[in-house]
Amino acid sequence: MTEKIPKLREALDGIPTYKPGRPAAAGGPVAYKLSSNENPYPPLPGVMESALAAAGSFNRYPDLACTALMNELAERFDVPVGHLATGTGSVGIAQMLVQSTSGPGDEVIYGWRSFEAYPIVTRISGATPVEVPLTPGDVHDLEAMADAITDRTRLIFVCNPNNPTGTTVRRAELERFLDRVPSDVLVVLDEAYKEFIRDPEVPDGLELYRRRPNLCVLRTFSKAYGLAGLRVGFAVAHEPVAAALRKTAVPFGVSQLAQDAAIASLRCEDELLGRVGSLVCERKRVAETLAEQGWTIPESQANFVWLRLGEQTAGFASVCENAGVVVRPFPGEGVRVTIGETEANDLFLRAAELFRKEM
Ligand SMILES: *Cc1c(COP(=O)(O)O)cnc(C)c1O
Repeated sequence: MTEKIPKLREALDGIPTYKPGRPAAAGGPVAYKLSSNENPYPPLPGVMESALAAAGSFNRYPDLACTALMNELAERFDVPVGHLATGTGSVGIAQMLVQSTSGPGDEVIYGWRSFEAYPIVTRISGATPVEVPLTPGDVHDLEAMADAITDRTRLIFVCNPNNPTGTTVRRAELERFLDRVPSDVLVVLDEAYKEFIRDPEVPDGLELYRRRPNLCVLRTFSKAYGLAGLRVGFAVAHEPVAAALRKTAVPFGVSQLAQDAAIASLRCEDELLGRVGSLVCERKRVAETLAEQGWTIPESQANFVWLRLGEQTAGFASVCENAGVVVRPFPGEGVRVTIGETEANDLFLRAAELFRKEM
């Protein structure tokens, strides 16, 4: 008799494993990691203290309901506590949202290319991904996304700004799109890079959600607030969506370290947003320098830039690596480069210039 192996769901076949940005190799020529859109600033002392204080009781489970953090978020963003849910990063919440809405036979729409977690969480649920190509300018094609809605559509992700292109959809077009979506289809507005937006025409999802019970806004502490390693994000949505999220959350998923560090971060938000301001200045400098070098790149409102390099993607990534920065190649498509420390950005710009001359 042949040994049987545990039966696994067919839905898992062919799902790519989430690919993290590569770290800078220790001791190698690469000194800087610009591959994961992380915040280059180390934790603020006050935030670090809160996390370390919480570490003293990690023999205990954390507060399951994240009560203190929920209260703090409710006050900061002027939303009812009942409209909030937390999770192990906003990726964790994205997975909970798909689980809450979609199963086999259901469809999940998102732009492509966009955040690589969307196809993964969709297929884990057994739902069918419907990928709608970005416009030639690398922006979400909201008209085409609305056209793609069927009776089977349960959820639509809109990533604003979009990862990895940095492009945004503006207020009027987003409102027009939302008006076209049936009220029983959930729209998830992923605002992981919200704090880096400077275009006043890009709407704040929290303003839109108040009038729209089928809109869920995703935010994270990983990027602007610099807590990527602690895994905490949150969603804002009306009941019953928020209630569904509280049901599907992994119990005790958000550690006490993460909860307390998130609260401390909200309390020193001015300082953290000052750092975001410096990164936005660096983004401007990087974009302008690339333009002077002759590159055409889409306008980014996030903490990264996108270079559509097609077949030259791998070659460009290795030129960067030799220059001391590890970037994020998407083979055959392009390269995403995080805005990091000034020295790191300089190394990247030098590599881009070198590559340009040899093109
Ligand atoms: C980084 C990122 C997130 C946040 O991930 P966390 O799980 O909160 O660390 C969510 N959405 C997009 C589009 C991202 O790029």
